[in-house]
Amino acid sequence: MVLDRPGDRGYPLLAIRGGPSITTQPVRPVVACLDLEGVLVPEIWINVAERTRIPELRLTTRDEPNYDVLMKRRIKILAEHKLTLKDIQDVIAEMAPLEGAKDFLSWLRARCQVIILSDTFAQFAAPLMRQLDSPTIFCNTLEVEPDGRIVNYHLRLPDQKRASVLALKQLNFHVVAAGDSYNDTSMLLAADARIFFRPPASITKEFPQFPVTQTYAELQAAFCKAAGL
Ligand SMILES: [Mg+2]
Repeated sequence: MVLDRPGDRGYPLLAIRGGPSITTQPVRPVVACLDLEGVLVPEIWINVAERTRIPELRLTTRDEPNYDVLMKRRIKILAEHKLTLKDIQDVIAEMAPLEGAKDFLSWLRARCQVIILSDTFAQFAAPLMRQLDSPTIFCNTLEVEPDGRIVNYHLRLPDQKRASVLALKQLNFHVVAAGDSYNDTSMLLAADARIFFRPPASITKEFPQFPVTQTYAELQAAFCKAAGL
């Protein structure tokens, strides 16, 4: 039997009586892992390109498949235009989450733990995270000089989305992942259950077994089904 009562340190204790192994806790609590760009917020680099009117910043991995070459090029472009981290953060602060994203995230956070797994950088995500009530996010980091110049970037580890899902499963969580793009597929494949949100048609053809959602109402329903929320 589980009994709630004030503990010696001033907060409720779970006192277990009648044996050491009785518990009412679920065996595998649910953790939702969400991609950021395309699921909760618009594509950050594309918006930065539009708002700074620097079209070269629209380049993506489709134009330059080598991510390291792409990032070094972006950093060089920022330097050429004398744009500091603060300038970019000001631009990103003008962006808003996708319509309905904040309500969806609040709904999900009230029902299970949520971790955003993103390939963006912590310094870029910060202005958008504030608008989403600061959820947990695992992403990468920019190296910034004291004068605000972005000089390099650091990936925390290769394919961190997949590595995070595998680590959470190792911790005995039931992981439900949702993403929209190719950089999510290894995370989705590693999860216990997976959901596509507004994916391009080319990806859904490649992964016909993944459920596809187009609205937050559909995404909620898919989470309810996958995680019993
Ligand atoms: Mg995405």
